[in-house]
Amino acid sequence: MSRADALLGALRRRTRKHRRRGGILMYHCITEESVDPWAICVSPQAFDEQMAVLAQARAAVDLADFAGGAGRTRSGDRVAVTFDDGYVDNLTAALPVLEKYEIPATIFVIGHAVGRTREFWWDALHSALLGSGPLPQVLDFPFGEGRVFTLEEKPGDSAANIGWRADDAGEDTPRQRLFRELWDIIVVLEPAEQDEATDFLMEWAGHVPATPPSRVAVDAEQFARIAEHPLISLGSHTLDHVSLTDLSPQRQHTQIGAGHRMIEELSGRPVTRFSYPYGRFDDGARTAVRDLGIDIACTSVPLPTIVDDDPRALPRLQATEMNGDRFARWLGEDYGLLSRSR
Ligand SMILES: [Zn+2]
Repeated sequence: MSRADALLGALRRRTRKHRRRGGILMYHCITEESVDPWAICVSPQAFDEQMAVLAQARAAVDLADFAGGAGRTRSGDRVAVTFDDGYVDNLTAALPVLEKYEIPATIFVIGHAVGRTREFWWDALHSALLGSGPLPQVLDFPFGEGRVFTLEEKPGDSAANIGWRADDAGEDTPRQRLFRELWDIIVVLEPAEQDEATDFLMEWAGHVPATPPSRVAVDAEQFARIAEHPLISLGSHTLDHVSLTDLSPQRQHTQIGAGHRMIEELSGRPVTRFSYPYGRFDDGARTAVRDLGIDIACTSVPLPTIVDDDPRALPRLQATEMNGDRFARWLGEDYGLLSRSR
């Protein structure tokens, strides 16, 4: 039995044992992207088809219904839509589709990202390593503990990046291995250092840092437009998109609390929702969320939601590039959702 089969079996047993509540979908960017190591991009066309499936099943509910009890139906045909990070394409590409099908959604916005004009470090790393031409053979990387990498590439390696997933087991090219190793170093750096590190890599790779227009977070004016939209609820996502499990309880509290206050201040209303950056959480982070009076917090644990889930650690299913049919099969066969309405 493969690991995937074992996992699927475990989750089927779990769904049988408990009455289903539904599923929370996690999206990031709504844009076309062929090199997408974390599968965070869904094209506008696929997103439209996916939302059409939810609309046809009359399954879309607001995220608060899961925690508030309204999501506890017998059929389990309840699906909430969420977005992490607050990319500008949530406004320009996703919102028109949500309006078309009248589907409510939650957008978790990083406090310091509002109005940030440069791309996030993970997108910059992606551009420098996976989107570039030939790279120098040696990288003397001074960040973290400092390390020298040697890169031995074969011709055609860069073509292997199309469709490559960083978390899939399999043969990686040297460049893909380097991408992963750098990711693990950069994720725990201080926020300012993360930008310095990716600037350094851009220069090493021979790139001029040019930010694609869709690859940034909303600015203040765009934030105001999503904040006042009747279909959108806002949530927070820490101040600097930190790896919470690498921080002391005190810093966890500061990052979660200050990020949350910032989203409340910017939107001028109380905010009750939060999601853990990189899906990383532990007891300290969960306690901070509770102490700060946040009602709902989402993880990235890929499971349907059930009645006895902790509302401050709700699992989510990451929707990826799939047409409507595949999306419906994915929800139905893997998670037992929407299967009765088809
Ligand atoms: Zn995030």
